[in-house]
Amino acid sequence: MVSLHDMTMTGDAMHRFIADLYPICRSITGDGVRQTLDIIRARIPLSAREVPTGTPVFDWTVPREWNVKDAYIKNARGERVVDFQRSNLHVLNYSAPVKKTVSLAELKGHLYSLPDHPDWIPYRTSYYQERWGFCLSHHDLLRLTDDEYEVCIDSSLAPGALTYGEYYLRGERAEEVLFSTHVCHPSLCNDNLAGIAVAVFLAQHLQLLPRRYSYRFLFLPGTIGPITWLALNQSGAAKITHGLVLACLGDPGHSTYKKSRRGDCEIDRAVAHVLKHSGTAYDITEFTPYGYDERQYGSPGFNLPVGCFMRTPHGRYPEYHTSADNLSLVTPAALADSLSKCITVVRLLERNRSYLNQNPFCEPQLGQRGLYRTMGGQTGEALNELALLWVLNLSDGRHTLLDIAERADMPFDEVANAAAALLAHDLLKACG
Ligand code: ZN
Repeated sequence: MVSLHDMTMTGDAMHRFIADLYPICRSITGDGVRQTLDIIRARIPLSAREVPTGTPVFDWTVPREWNVKDAYIKNARGERVVDFQRSNLHVLNYSAPVKKTVSLAELKGHLYSLPDHPDWIPYRTSYYQERWGFCLSHHDLLRLTDDEYEVCIDSSLAPGALTYGEYYLRGERAEEVLFSTHVCHPSLCNDNLAGIAVAVFLAQHLQLLPRRYSYRFLFLPGTIGPITWLALNQSGAAKITHGLVLACLGDPGHSTYKKSRRGDCEIDRAVAHVLKHSGTAYDITEFTPYGYDERQYGSPGFNLPVGCFMRTPHGRYPEYHTSADNLSLVTPAALADSLSKCITVVRLLERNRSYLNQNPFCEPQLGQRGLYRTMGGQTGEALNELALLWVLNLSDGRHTLLDIAERADMPFDEVANAAAALLAHDLLKACG
């Protein structure tokens, strides 16, 4: 059990990690992703993979690489009225290069703002159609007078590569648990950096533990990233036995789990069980073929058991895809809570299995074995005796410990601890 003090320290460390990644201008390709993977590599030894522009990946093609050095709009007095150096959100992500002088009327056709939130800069992208543009606060847009403006976007769209990060942790078995998170958003905290932080800290935690499953962590650009990975790993993907896409895990809203396409996989039941016994509010939603990369893992040709773990889902908080998704939207407490729930899910998956009762004809005498109180009124931490009885009763080889925990309506760990004690007394035998 993680103490409150440790949780606070971990949440603070996760928040500092996000602060290190925050200034980087990321996109679906380019040096921002590479810099991000370099910072992650200081914590976990991940490999960066480079897939060349033009590589066919199912119905898609790896796009040209995008990089940007500088961008601005200058008024006739030479003042930067919009400046990429102040916020990388000012550039339409993947914008084509441009350098020319335009009238206000022409400029306005390339500007994006949010009249409902006039202080915030929107985040906009144009990956698959070439255009140039700027994003700015609505207040700044209204301040533009009838003038001549010099627009400059010093970007490049050129043959290069799509970069993603992969970290594989071998366990006893080849079956894998997948954690996948997107790394393609520029200075946005909840949407991409929170998922990265939870994945990295979870990987660091798992490095130190014995593992029945193998674990694969993927840090990829949204959509084109998992499409590329799945195209390059079409047969290997079948090893993915459980998986979670991690996204939007740092806002103060409650946890949300979106089920896998199959809807009744062990991962779906495991996350639902952990949330139910977490003592916190939560939502569970059905699969939809929209949202994050669960829809690629859950496309019909793969149909992998991959759900999506979030707090407030994308698009349901006003700061989503704006400059207000910043370091004050994500809180250390929410980050630590999301991580703690992921760790609890992993512990459940690791311990969940079926057993056979070795004394199936009526109850064994638990008191004689020191497993059951022989006297009323004992104090101290005892095993949950009802859990012992449930495990013995349902361990006929056809029920997993999660089945038993759900039927008994008990936290999984109490049932698993009871099974461990019974195993130690040769009253159970592991199946399979
Ligand atoms: Zn997003």
